Amino acid sequence: MSAVLKAPLVVEFPFTRSLGPVQSAFLTALRHRVVLGVKTRDGRTLVPPVEYDPVTAEEISELVHVGITGTVTTWAWNHEPRRGQPLDTPFAWVLVKLDGADTALLHALDAPGPDAVRTGMRVRIRWAEEPTGAITDIACFEPYDGDESTVTVHAGEFEDPVTGIVAQARLDYTYSPGRAQTAYIKALAEHRAVGERCPSCQKVYVPPRGACPTCGVATSEQVEVGPGGTVTTFCIVNIKAKNLDIEVPYVYAHIALDGADLALHGRIGGIPYDQVRMGLRVEPVWNEGGSYPDHYRPTGEPDADYETYKELL
Ligand SMILES: [Zn+2]
Repeated sequence: MSAVLKAPLVVEFPFTRSLGPVQSAFLTALRHRVVLGVKTRDGRTLVPPVEYDPVTAEEISELVHVGITGTVTTWAWNHEPRRGQPLDTPFAWVLVKLDGADTALLHALDAPGPDAVRTGMRVRIRWAEEPTGAITDIACFEPYDGDESTVTVHAGEFEDPVTGIVAQARLDYTYSPGRAQTAYIKALAEHRAVGERCPSCQKVYVPPRGACPTCGVATSEQVEVGPGGTVTTFCIVNIKAKNLDIEVPYVYAHIALDGADLALHGRIGGIPYDQVRMGLRVEPVWNEGGSYPDHYRPTGEPDADYETYKELL
């Protein structure tokens, strides 16, 4: 058996969110090296602050200034910091109850090793050199054996408040398509579509997943399908995707390849978008060096009878 394919994949997108009045004040205060919490009606102080009491769901907005020193309530050692984490040397993730707060804030503690960390230890905020109005203005916590910092009431009003943040969401992972899809991808490289037949219900799955989702049994018999197929259903895409050089509007369709019992996805080209229809007969179009069909185009055959594909919508 040949080696199973795998490839590194990255999913990355900027996530933009607006801040309500409480979190706007919290982040703006960090820019001034001040930590704000919010008071609940029963007198607890929540840090980081939220707009609604998590117990009573009441709207809360009374901001208070809490200390920059606090106590570790629990922790875990991070042996191998990853990209984007607060420190690039091993550190402890800690929950810190800042002096004056009743809840704990998650952050990093810079410590020489796990032996230097314990629940109940006293810590202090180490501020970033250039605060920007983000949680990263707290660079990390560091061990501290001095006095408690003072706590005063703060109106939480600042000039030029932070009203939104952009968080870069990123997920790095290695994708392995497994035995069945590896065979499918290798066949695609030869411009062939190969699925697998279920030994129980006889359905042919393209792309194959290695098992029949209906019968729950493994599939292994390979079956070549296509190249022609039938549009079973479709949608018109009007939003241009970043990094995708396709003019909108265009049609994205479910296509049942001849001999397959599962429709796959593909773009339809070579026909005005408003003339694509259910039952349209299509064939794949390959770009030079492409590892999968660039799109499908009409073959010119008469449309397929609805009865032949109604189970494949
Ligand atoms: Zn089956």
